[in-house]
Amino acid sequence: MADYTALALFIDGRFRSGEGRASEPVFNPATAASLADLPHASAADLDEALAAAHHAFPAWAMTTALERSAVMRRAAQLIRDRIEASAVIMTLEQGKPVAESRGELNHAADVIDWYAEEGRRTYGRVVPSRVPGVRMTVTQEPVGPVAAFTPWNFPALTPCRKIGGALAAGCTIVLKASEEVPGTAVEIARAFADAGLPAGVLNLVFGDPATVSTHLIASPLIRKVSFTGSTAIGKHLTRLCADDLKRTTMELGGHGPVIVFDDVDVDAVAETAALGKYRNAGQVCVSPTRFFVQEAVYDRFLARFIEVARGIKIGSGLDIGVQMGPLANPRRVEAMEALVQDAVDRGGVVETGGQRRGNVGWFYEPTVLSGLNDDATIMTEEPFGPVAPIAPFADFDEVVTRANNLPYGLAGYAFTTSARRVADIGAALKSGMVGINTFAISQPETPFGGVLESGHGSEGGTEGLQAYLDTKLTSVG
Ligand code: NAD
Repeated sequence: MADYTALALFIDGRFRSGEGRASEPVFNPATAASLADLPHASAADLDEALAAAHHAFPAWAMTTALERSAVMRRAAQLIRDRIEASAVIMTLEQGKPVAESRGELNHAADVIDWYAEEGRRTYGRVVPSRVPGVRMTVTQEPVGPVAAFTPWNFPALTPCRKIGGALAAGCTIVLKASEEVPGTAVEIARAFADAGLPAGVLNLVFGDPATVSTHLIASPLIRKVSFTGSTAIGKHLTRLCADDLKRTTMELGGHGPVIVFDDVDVDAVAETAALGKYRNAGQVCVSPTRFFVQEAVYDRFLARFIEVARGIKIGSGLDIGVQMGPLANPRRVEAMEALVQDAVDRGGVVETGGQRRGNVGWFYEPTVLSGLNDDATIMTEEPFGPVAPIAPFADFDEVVTRANNLPYGLAGYAFTTSARRVADIGAALKSGMVGINTFAISQPETPFGGVLESGHGSEGGTEGLQAYLDTKLTSVG
């Protein structure tokens, strides 16, 4: 495939491929055709990556924040300079429309820039002592080599959040990016290599996820683990980290409630909501996923939402004008089929969509479901796909109870023109991030993370840097 990239591991400053390693095919979700073979890291490769991260750590930690920042900013600029080629690679392997791929790569470069700058502000403080003549200082130190694991829905942004935080803090990193979208991660590693990042500071590996994560997390050389993915795997990795109390950041699943009160411009909110829902084919952890609409405006909201869903242009992400590509893998198509079947079995109504599109690739239609109770599977399990359940509600207290009734707490949204409701709903939603009259809740400067079973720790903002720093008190008598 001419426009794809040469897949490789990146260990101790060298790209490695083939050489007798096991491999697996990477597929184009728009055609289900193989794009390339991805080499798997052997146990020896993983040990070499761990050793490289370990050996590179002291020098990188001692490199001045200004110098680290300069390397990172060069890498961010290279990501931007190469955006057209990288966007095609991302769309080929993940499926999203190429305009979304471009947007994601720009956001990823901005995240690297943000961390590059924020790393220059890892201030400490001097604390007045209770004892005369004693000087007490608090400083921050990089936690050590990091193992990071990223999924397939944001092939550039999620790796860059982890690489950016780690490198800015002075940590080295071994990243296992998703085997389903490896080409983008390889291009990111290439940008850092070409920017002059010292060997061993960033290492990129692929393989069987469970084998690689068990191997890396078991190593005493790793001091921090950052994972983005499902709640089930996040719990599993947290347990592995408990053995030697490695620090963790867990960005896990969500099931974002969207509460639409009856005082809004219903058509406008329905349009924004539908476009937000089907972005990246709904494969977004902060996707709006459970729609609660106040009774007086319910019918009108539903009608407009359906209209927008029907108008969404589906196709290969490389084709001009396409708004929604295929799902990233066949597992998501099967999951959508199961969710819709469960809804139908419970008496729900498929208002639009509800089936695959075509018989080539992994396309599924933008789907709207109504008439469901809150115990339908789609109301309790994260859909991670283009299926939107819409339900009516009567009053504030009722909808808050329903919105907060899951063990998740990642993102929640509300739409209202009442200042009182803005304040009340913002306080009432049990969620790491709340969007009121907007779905825009993610930018490099702000913390991104969940509560409850959506995980712990934040990426982005000053919090994202703190995640890679230990606090040290020095008391001098
Ligand atoms: P999954 O739960 O098996 O995998 C999720 C991610 O974790 C994948 O990238 C996978 O490679 C990785 N993974 C799996 N087992 C691992 C292990 N033992 N060690 C390290 N990494 C491991 O299933 P899936 O089919 O890829 O996705 C299903 C669900 O995962 C989705 O429905 C969604 O809820 C969740 N998910 C969440 C995000 C997110 O951004 N939070 C991203 C992708 C998937």
